[in-house]
Amino acid sequence: MNMVIRNGVVLSMDSNKTVYKKGMVIITGDTISYTGREESSMIPRTSEIVDAKGGIIMPGLINTHTHIGMSLFRTLADDTADRLKKYLFPLEKKFVTPALVYQASLYSLTEMIEGGTTTFADMYYFEEKVADAAVKAGIRGILGESILNFPAPDSKEPYGGFVYTEKFMDSYSGNPLITPALAPHAPYSLDYNNLKKTAELAEKWNIPVLSHLAETPFETKQIADEFGLSPVQLYSRAGLLTPRLTAAHCIYIDDHDIDLIKHSGTGVAHNVAANLKSGRPISPALKMFDKGIPIGLGTDGPMSGNTVDIINLLGYTAKIHKLDNADRTVMPPEKVLEMATIGGARALHIDDKTGSLEAGKKADIIIVSTDSTPMFPIYDYYSAMVYCASPRDVNTVIINGKMIMQERELTTLNKNEIKTEAAKMVVKIKKQLEDY
Ligand SMILES: [Zn+2]
Repeated sequence: MNMVIRNGVVLSMDSNKTVYKKGMVIITGDTISYTGREESSMIPRTSEIVDAKGGIIMPGLINTHTHIGMSLFRTLADDTADRLKKYLFPLEKKFVTPALVYQASLYSLTEMIEGGTTTFADMYYFEEKVADAAVKAGIRGILGESILNFPAPDSKEPYGGFVYTEKFMDSYSGNPLITPALAPHAPYSLDYNNLKKTAELAEKWNIPVLSHLAETPFETKQIADEFGLSPVQLYSRAGLLTPRLTAAHCIYIDDHDIDLIKHSGTGVAHNVAANLKSGRPISPALKMFDKGIPIGLGTDGPMSGNTVDIINLLGYTAKIHKLDNADRTVMPPEKVLEMATIGGARALHIDDKTGSLEAGKKADIIIVSTDSTPMFPIYDYYSAMVYCASPRDVNTVIINGKMIMQERELTTLNKNEIKTEAAKMVVKIKKQLEDY
């Protein structure tokens, strides 16, 4: 079956950033077979025609770092000091179950799809439930069970994440949408031998690695005290700095660390809004991008961000780096949109598969409507996407060749049902929090 998207402006995000003002994309099965100018003679006779109505046809957005199982905790203890250790870890121990992760994931996925995200990288607990939700939604995911040096919701023993990952890999091997990953939580929450073990298993099992890296000041101090190294140097010594790794944050890094990341082929997830909310310094993401390091955008979890859509991040990313450099010309919209699409695919090491609209790539495509008030007039489509668009402007979402949202209607998820189930769980959480 073919699908043809026509009557729109195609931002292909290919290596020349080709824009087709009157463009068309043809999908054959799960793959793009044509991107270019609209030619009616090329439309196969038995095609489903999708009219973009003059909107923007572009690659789906990629969220390179999140924890979607946390969405039912959103707005809880926002802006509390030392939230991670005082609030988050104990809270998770008490409330996080497979059922909660599944429901919270479904809820987040509705938000993600409605905002045009077609691929996400996630690390949390009971990641198989995140995968179940992702398959139901029809979204692409690189998913890793958190590995930590203390008991977690998924395991009474420290490092239970290793056992979990092996089982998860077995149940999801060969799935076209889901790639299980190893997810060592951070340099400060695994000991050195287990960091090394993670690197060895990633090679042996041939899977990606997701981790937080160089995110907090206490992490930098702890690793310096114990090893006399920076967190990036420690990962390099442990064998983790490889083209398998996507490292989230990379805030506390110097030029030497940037060189190490660059030469290792490691990808980086830039989570600017979550970092700002935690009062952290700005990651040298622009410098890394300009040096050719694969870098994409991430929202971080819904407790940190607090939203999990990428469009809200675009303007932030442009503006914060201008402020940081006192230069309005840096981080122009083309660069930001590159990070949100093909850059994210590079950071997750799947740019051969997705991230741009090119023949041979998987059909992960969105149509962004240009009908809303702020989306007029448009002299520059990249500017419109970065500075004017809102997630609600996303009109249509296609993932792996399948229609997932058409004219704002979700085809795979029942939003009302998901919210009703989630609300029941929130009532329970609120009740238990009264004596927390
Ligand atoms: Zn995170």
